[in-house]
Amino acid sequence: MLGGSPCSKPVRVEHDGQFYCTVHDPARVKARTDERHEALYQKAKERSRIMMLEAERQAFGRNCIAAIREIAAGHNDAQSIARSVLESEPKP
Ligand SMILES: [Zn+2]
Repeated sequence: MLGGSPCSKPVRVEHDGQFYCTVHDPARVKARTDERHEALYQKAKERSRIMMLEAERQAFGRNCIAAIREIAAGHNDAQSIARSVLESEPKP
């Protein structure tokens, strides 16, 4: 181990007076870490989007059932009920 590099690979980079191989170059280590964090963040964001959409679809399903019950119970304007429920249909 020579001047900062934690391994025996050839020294290629100097950083703040310390020497590193290309694998342990702090700039590259940071870039790889940032890349992993960004990938995890994007994955979590996508999961969250899917869960929100699923919740909206379930709410939409409940609204549909409620509308059908009102129509079945004799509501006198089935079309307006149907239209208002369809307006709340979640878009992917
Ligand atoms: Zn190294």
